[in-house]
Amino acid sequence: MKNRLFSIVVLLTLAALFLAACGSAPSADSAPAAESATEAAVKEPAAEAASIKVLASTTFLADIAQNVAGDRVVVESLLPFGADPHSYQAAPTDVAKIAESNLLILNGVEYEHFIETLLENAGGERVIVESATGIEPRQMEEEHAEEDHSPEAHSKEVCEQLEGKTAEEEIQTGADAASAVELHGEDEHAEGEHAHEREIVTLKLNAQADGTFAGYVLLDSEEEQGYAVTSAAGEIVVTDAAGATLEAGQILTIDCEGMTVGGVYKLPVGEYVVAVTGVDSESVVFSAAPMHAHEHEEGEEGHEGHSHEAGDPHMWLDPNLVITYVGNIRDGLIEADPDGAETYNANAEAYIAQLTDLDKWIVEQVDTVPAERRLLVTNHEAVGYFADRYGFEVVGAVIPSLSTEATTSAKEMAELIEQIKATGAPAIFLGEVENADLANQIADETGVKVVDTLQLETLTDGEPAATYIEMMKYNVTQIVEGLK
Ligand SMILES: [Zn+2]
Repeated sequence: MKNRLFSIVVLLTLAALFLAACGSAPSADSAPAAESATEAAVKEPAAEAASIKVLASTTFLADIAQNVAGDRVVVESLLPFGADPHSYQAAPTDVAKIAESNLLILNGVEYEHFIETLLENAGGERVIVESATGIEPRQMEEEHAEEDHSPEAHSKEVCEQLEGKTAEEEIQTGADAASAVELHGEDEHAEGEHAHEREIVTLKLNAQADGTFAGYVLLDSEEEQGYAVTSAAGEIVVTDAAGATLEAGQILTIDCEGMTVGGVYKLPVGEYVVAVTGVDSESVVFSAAPMHAHEHEEGEEGHEGHSHEAGDPHMWLDPNLVITYVGNIRDGLIEADPDGAETYNANAEAYIAQLTDLDKWIVEQVDTVPAERRLLVTNHEAVGYFADRYGFEVVGAVIPSLSTEATTSAKEMAELIEQIKATGAPAIFLGEVENADLANQIADETGVKVVDTLQLETLTDGEPAATYIEMMKYNVTQIVEGLK
């Protein structure tokens, strides 16, 4: 009896010890199974693990964040391996995942087009990190490539607008700024048509003390944009309502339809005085109208949607920019779990060292490609930051958009084919998640090869791109091989 009681006491004591040891871990299932109770009691308390739930929008962000989080917390990815964030359709379980999270890590720059609705439905509060915060997004060059904004192009445009027109209307100008007259008659103003068509008028000027002639007219800017103002002779001076002289944004070299001088002035909404001075005769042919009035009517931005305004989200394809990601993620982790600050700081530092090594490795690889062959054609505009960093020229994209969720026109396809032929770009690169049909068509016409196995937007479950660093090495290897 006595012996038995002793055994029970011993057992209870052991049980208490065991519970005490386990109790220092946050939860039973997060304690490593192999670790015995005794070891756990001897080691630093397993308070290493934090109780926050961290969710990253997509796989490569989850991996980057996991490197910073270390052993303290497991970072999960909202999107599965192989999903293209550009075209992602939220799954029914996504709302719950977000609702449970204490920290949500996004890329930002509108990469997660699906997130707003999910956040609304999830409700609650959490720390949200946009990893790209602090990086100035590239704007897509393609859109403006077709539109030449040089003074020469503007001069040409003005001449085209004026072609065949003659100055039928004659306007008696004011003798000074105070007496400046409306450039356009009240009737036309009411119809609102004058702003869209370039007109030529004859300005009747006023004699000046020095024997030259000058005149002052009023110009109404109804919308902030560039106004091209031209005259057959003299000098053009534009002043705002406060009397301040405005610099021409561009000096135009006009030599058509009798015009010789001109400039493009960016005029915020308001009234401006345009003076034409130093003319030898008492009248001068003159014109003033907005540039590119057609832009607002045709909706040319349609094919690239909202991503145009936000800019290029693909910063992760330059590891140097991922260093900024790491800083933002580290700060978010510390905000959500201040006790882990020391760990997060140390992990971030270690991972940044790996990113720096990765950058050096990429430079070495790219060095093996002759400079004149560093030409990139991609399916969508994904490699701008990568190209900037490693000295590639982006020849073009099959889909001239920052998103895979866009289309291309026959004209754009034809232009790309020309560019490929002109530059000798040897390959078209695209991600495995992209549709290769158009790229294959272009390859048929140009004879270039298609490398359609890159991992630009997602990691793979295991090889070849199980981590962000492996993903970059895998992509660079294929690009280098494809260009040699
Ligand atoms: Zn993309």
